[in-house]
Amino acid sequence: MIELINVTKAYSGKLALSGINLQVQPGQIYGILGPNGSGKTTMLKLISSIIKPTSGSITVLGHDTIIENNVVKAFTGYVPETPALYESMNIWEYLRFIASVRKVPAGQYEKRATEFLKAFELDQISSDYIGNLSFGTRQKVAIIAALIHDPQVIVLDEAMNGLDPRSSKILKDLLAKIAERGKIIIFSTHIMEVAQRLCTRLSILYAGKIVDSGTFEELEKKHSEGTLEDIFLKVTGSEDLDPTVNSLAESMRE
Ligand code: ADP
Ligand code: MG
Repeated sequence: MIELINVTKAYSGKLALSGINLQVQPGQIYGILGPNGSGKTTMLKLISSIIKPTSGSITVLGHDTIIENNVVKAFTGYVPETPALYESMNIWEYLRFIASVRKVPAGQYEKRATEFLKAFELDQISSDYIGNLSFGTRQKVAIIAALIHDPQVIVLDEAMNGLDPRSSKILKDLLAKIAERGKIIIFSTHIMEVAQRLCTRLSILYAGKIVDSGTFEELEKKHSEGTLEDIFLKVTGSEDLDPTVNSLAESMRE
């Protein structure tokens, strides 16, 4: 499992996360929601061992992310918010390179990459340079790169952004299937429909703290609200936005 105990993270003395306690069990698909700047990316980078907590402890499958960050990185597949890919490689070369770093046997790589490229409709453009790809296509390549070694732990930071409906549906259904095999999946998203339908558990971050957690049904019951969007807006202090919108509309007329 993934376990965060009383985690804080500060950047140059400024707290981005504080008092974070979280457990994610194998088989779960855990959703992290929260407004821009609430700490989602920070939390996912901490779990993926990309950055270190300022205090508190984080273990992934029993391995400490500070002491054993290389072990954690090896069994984790992480899709960053803005993937930095090698611009001068083509898609196939890039995936082959990642697979070799991940020590995926050649036969397995060929098979997986071919399947993924076909599913995401990239098979016709596999010799296109990464540097020339559209945002959504880069995102697809980053997702394939993160999954090519069949990681135990999958961390996706707003990975559905920019995906076309077909690819988004394929990714959602694939994640559900992978979770059934006992993998651990955690991701951030602003897409409420994805969070509600796909996640077995959710946490809502606000200003670096978890302000609410539970299954969607638990959150729904607790807040006696209809949609996840309503609950999100309520717990992040944005319940009544009418005055804001009216004032904006007025300011554009003056
Ligand atoms: P989210 O992903 O929810 O939008 P982030 O985790 O990116 O939030 O950011 C949380 C807070 O930490 C923000 O105030 C952001 O400005 C700050 N922050 C994130 N990364 C850095 C960094 N590398 N250096 C300084 N501040 C950062
Ligand atoms: Mg972010």
